[in-house]
Amino acid sequence: MIEAERQRALDAIGSEVAACTRCRLHETRTRSVPGEGSAATEVVFVGEGPGFNEDRLGRPFVGQAGELLTKLLESVQWTREDVFITNVVKCRPPGNRDPEPEEIAACAPFLSRQLEALDPALVVTLGRFSMARFNPGARIGQVHGTFQPADPASGAPRALTYAMYHPAAALHQGSLKATLFRDMEGVPVALLQARERRVAGTGPPGQDAVQIEAATPLVEAPAEDVSKWRTGESAVAAQSIELTSQTDLTDQLTLF
Ligand code: URA
Repeated sequence: MIEAERQRALDAIGSEVAACTRCRLHETRTRSVPGEGSAATEVVFVGEGPGFNEDRLGRPFVGQAGELLTKLLESVQWTREDVFITNVVKCRPPGNRDPEPEEIAACAPFLSRQLEALDPALVVTLGRFSMARFNPGARIGQVHGTFQPADPASGAPRALTYAMYHPAAALHQGSLKATLFRDMEGVPVALLQARERRVAGTGPPGQDAVQIEAATPLVEAPAEDVSKWRTGESAVAAQSIELTSQTDLTDQLTLF
């Protein structure tokens, strides 16, 4: 899909989200929050659900957690416009409570379709609700700062997923802020791995990658790599990894 087609698909999903009445969150929302960012990006960040400010403005991560997310992106020389930012649920759970399983299930097709349109190399999950979608059964305390193949049922069968704590968690527990910045250093490194993996699975989107996964339990984020990211050794390398437009990436892949 070229960028314009991706954008059209995202716009269509956004319009459906705006009119959605699939769960009770529509009764209390001010505005739905489908997500925003580059339609050509290789990297999608997925949070939990809109909060007070997001509900007022119809944009993801525009409150205090969003400020921290912007700083995290800047720490690896990226901007919000370089990536796509969205959430597991597109309408605010009242009082910022956790989303209920049936609300997550009702909203799931929207996130899947966004991922199908974007076909990202890397999905960065922010918090446990997002992580559960791409890496079911994982525990955030154990897997934060590491990557795995994304569950193909997530809508991103060719992606790696990289787990991070939710930025809002660091607003309540200050010590998590340093963890978040340290984990962020590993995101561009995971992107490099994700690119390599896609080049290796040169076939049509989806099929080949899934077969490779089934045959090889793939990049289990080797311990030594993770410890490198955690000591910040990768920081210099990470900062020089630029995001490539998906159109370019697709062009490159067809050459192989
Ligand atoms: N928290 C989220 O998970 N998503 C947002 O968009 C804002 C805060």
